[in-house]
Amino acid sequence: MNRLPTNVPRGRFDFEHLPETDQSFENALAKARSGERLTVADGVELLTTGTEFEGIDPARKERVLEAADRRRAEVVGEEVTFVVNLNNNVTTACNTGCLFCNFKDPAGEFERGNETRGFSKTPGESRRIVRDAVARGVYEVTSVSGLHPALALNDEHLEILAANGGPNYKPASAYRVDPGTYVEQIEAMNVDGVHVHSMTPEEAAHARRGTDWSYESVYRELMDVGLASVPGTAAEILVDEVRDVICPQKIDSAEWEAAMEAAASVGLDVTATIMYGHVENEMHRVVHLDRVRDLQERTGAITEFVPLSFVHRNTPLAEKGMVTDGATREEDELMIAVSRLYLDNVENVQSSWVKYGDAFGLKLLSCGANDFMGTILSEEITKRAGGEYGEFRSVRDYVEMITAIGRIPVERSTDYRERRVVDPDGGPLGPMLGPKADGTPLTAGRPAPADD
Ligand code: SF4
Repeated sequence: MNRLPTNVPRGRFDFEHLPETDQSFENALAKARSGERLTVADGVELLTTGTEFEGIDPARKERVLEAADRRRAEVVGEEVTFVVNLNNNVTTACNTGCLFCNFKDPAGEFERGNETRGFSKTPGESRRIVRDAVARGVYEVTSVSGLHPALALNDEHLEILAANGGPNYKPASAYRVDPGTYVEQIEAMNVDGVHVHSMTPEEAAHARRGTDWSYESVYRELMDVGLASVPGTAAEILVDEVRDVICPQKIDSAEWEAAMEAAASVGLDVTATIMYGHVENEMHRVVHLDRVRDLQERTGAITEFVPLSFVHRNTPLAEKGMVTDGATREEDELMIAVSRLYLDNVENVQSSWVKYGDAFGLKLLSCGANDFMGTILSEEITKRAGGEYGEFRSVRDYVEMITAIGRIPVERSTDYRERRVVDPDGGPLGPMLGPKADGTPLTAGRPAPADD
């Protein structure tokens, strides 16, 4: 049998979870085709195209992709959705030291008198950036930031941290730019009805550090000033033996879930992600899917699942020689497909052009994915880790790409509740769903709004 190699570092790390099952590939595929709920063993068989051999069997892989594509068509039909959004990340200052991350800059660089290649924004700067984007028709702002030592939930939190000397705290007066508090940043970005998508579980943990405040109270307070939904990033791989290797200072899997449940319990929609293709194996990937499926059973709040293929260049994991590559294309295809088949309670699976590029991202829309991400007027995180795929896709770009594969382009709101089928011949080829969206293309050069 001619099997394709994978970049899964099996045996390189001393993990308890191994991709071994007593299930067969054929049984697992039969269950997937019939719509029966999959077990972890089923998922591992599909993801590996059979654990009895090393590598990926090309013919079996095609059968898994076909089953996932058929399921996608049954669940969401032929529409491919995208959202019109802006990334406004507040700061790259972070001392957490995750080994997969090259977004961060050591927070000491941001102190007065030091130099940094990174950035921090005041709430006023965030407001100006979002206001300009909303005037252009953008209706979602996504904001994910480093854990700046001066960032706290609110003024009361700053007083507690100052009185107790931490943890991971330094007063804003030590830094050239004061990022304000999380409440001030969210309030600043809450412009004219834009949807503010922010405060990952890791950021929520930072926003309650040194206190006994609940995640519910943190999310409720942020919701009161405009937070509308929560990105389920910082999930990486929800198996602690993997987190202990790649992000030992981050919250553990159980706490990530607790934060997500809290967000859902106060009425916020959430997304969920997986970042794969580094030190983990296929068993970890499927256990992660299992935890996400269970979380969805408990909350019903997950609007989409976003597989993120690890971009290894410029990251400490690569610099330390712990990884030499990311996932192969075949592993990417199977990750999307098994996500679709395993997560039978999550409607939308995203293909990220930032991670996969346009051509391969489109291919993944035939492997189980149905959402093609967002316009993203600025994308700093992947670019800083060596991503190559640029910063912006217009509505016209989306329409051309999606119709080229014979599918239907649909502009959507963040929560997928509002949709507009875009007519490639009749347009308009600009956003229509936002508070100030009137179909004008995003880059058509509208006048910037006056300062407050
Ligand atoms: S992933 Fe987030 S928490 Fe980890 S080092 Fe990067 S910015 Fe900091």
